[in-house]
Amino acid sequence: MIKINENYKKLQASYLFSDIAKRVAAFQKENPDKEVIKMGIGDVTLPLADVCLKAFHKGVDDLADKATFKGYGPEQGYDFLRSAIAEHDFQSRGADISADEVFVSDGAKCDTGNFQELFSSDAVIAVPDPVYPVYVDTNVMAGRSGDFVNGRYSRFIYLDSTESNNYVPDLPKEKADVIYLCFPNNPTGATATKEQLKKWVDYAKENRSLILFDAAYECFIRNPELPKSIFEIPGADEVAVEFRSFSKTAGFTGVRCGFTVVPKKCKVYDADGNPASLHAMWNRRHTTKFNGASYPVQCAAAACYTPEGQAQIKEKTDYYLGNAALIKKAIVDLGYSCTGGDNSPYVWVNTKTDSWAFFDRLLHECGIVCTPGSGFGSCGQGYVRFSAFNSRENTQKAMEKLSKLLK
Ligand SMILES: *Cc1c(COP(=O)(O)O)cnc(C)c1O
Repeated sequence: MIKINENYKKLQASYLFSDIAKRVAAFQKENPDKEVIKMGIGDVTLPLADVCLKAFHKGVDDLADKATFKGYGPEQGYDFLRSAIAEHDFQSRGADISADEVFVSDGAKCDTGNFQELFSSDAVIAVPDPVYPVYVDTNVMAGRSGDFVNGRYSRFIYLDSTESNNYVPDLPKEKADVIYLCFPNNPTGATATKEQLKKWVDYAKENRSLILFDAAYECFIRNPELPKSIFEIPGADEVAVEFRSFSKTAGFTGVRCGFTVVPKKCKVYDADGNPASLHAMWNRRHTTKFNGASYPVQCAAAACYTPEGQAQIKEKTDYYLGNAALIKKAIVDLGYSCTGGDNSPYVWVNTKTDSWAFFDRLLHECGIVCTPGSGFGSCGQGYVRFSAFNSRENTQKAMEKLSKLLK
């Protein structure tokens, strides 16, 4: 008899986005003439940068010619891309990361989800609340969660991210083995300073734990004081892994490309307490279970690092940041407190009421769709997320409607 992985039964069904879709569909059915503006989208809306598109096409053409054809590539990614990443994203910012510490993949969701399989099944996991659900669910599947009681899993440590700590969680009193952090954060839009990240690096060193740092939104950071990578913190290469993606950076949500940085200095331990190489383990995992991102996709990703690529990508992220600034201004002018909106495409708003009640009010009274914060964890109750991934026109229109409604 084939038996299932019982841990799957512990997963909490996520109705967040299907619930939103249902309520929007019902509203549209009742109000066929009313315009709906979606401000809840976590997906980019602008097309690929021209320079990426050209490199993408050229990559395809290479496959059409016997002389330049590529079959299986290196599982870890082509050296042209790994070197460009190491140089532009890390070495240029004083982070000593080499090309062979970069593992190219088909996106950060897979990497953030898969990485936990390198750890023992009794590893203690710390996750932010509110959270990007992948960190939680993949550890539930792997049997690390314990039971779900009163809205939380009994074996996880929850890192509350609230107004009182500026959405950068405090160090836990307990010892966590694995710590997930995400800055700029989804959903809160909060960023962390070097000093704040250093506290986590020090904690990880003291407790021999590992930080899994999700930097999927680093390209929205404009404040030069803010770190884009955790490896800008001295010593972080002994206790941290970083996930990145071209999805939000370069509009690759449908193209699929990301990468994980696993420093060779990063220490983990076997059951006897002897150090093991995390880099060697991830290399083994990656080469066993993954066969490389597609060649034309890697060509397109590498084009992001050319001077034209950098300029074109900045233009697009500037556009989203312009939307974010409009959202933030409207919210602040209305007297609501919020975080994000600078250095991030998300604005996280304290609604002073129930998340879903606020969602319904906005939908029914002005046709605006936001994302209820309670769907991201218990600390999200009372909040909603507005996304800047939209057209300027829609963003302006939505904020005008919102301002009229909430004034
Ligand atoms: C969008 C996003 C990613 C990137 O996912 P991809 O699989 O690379 O598209 C990673 N982490 C967070 C928190 C995200 O919001």
